[in-house]
Amino acid sequence: MNKIEHIGIAVKSLKDSNTLFTKLFGTPNYKIETVESEGVNTSFFKVGDNKIELLEATKEDSPIAKFIEKKGEGIHHIAFDVDDIEAEIMRLKAEGFIVLNEIPKKGADNKLVAFLHPKSSNGVLIELCQEIKQENIL
Ligand code: ZN
Repeated sequence: MNKIEHIGIAVKSLKDSNTLFTKLFGTPNYKIETVESEGVNTSFFKVGDNKIELLEATKEDSPIAKFIEKKGEGIHHIAFDVDDIEAEIMRLKAEGFIVLNEIPKKGADNKLVAFLHPKSSNGVLIELCQEIKQENIL
């Protein structure tokens, strides 16, 4: 694994939270993107070298809606940049981690992503992400 790619925060209203986090960071979000397959609207902020992703549910059965129902708003996942997501999935599976999707899927921000179940990582949902390059477009 390389660096932390971003931290994901679950919010009830992307509109309200965009305003709030723009005030907090002193800089507006640079991108809004819907990931239909995940049932989320996302908003990205850059803070120095770091990225923060806000996530809002687009439907009631979205994982974000369920998360907020159970735990309220707050930090939802930590995403790590990887060079070879398939190799990392194999490595982590072999180490006993529960991989939620063994086949990487297209996430927000031009990434291939896979998630590890929080119950195999001390309650923290981990996202692996690999930048999509020309040759690995799905
Ligand atoms: Zn994320």
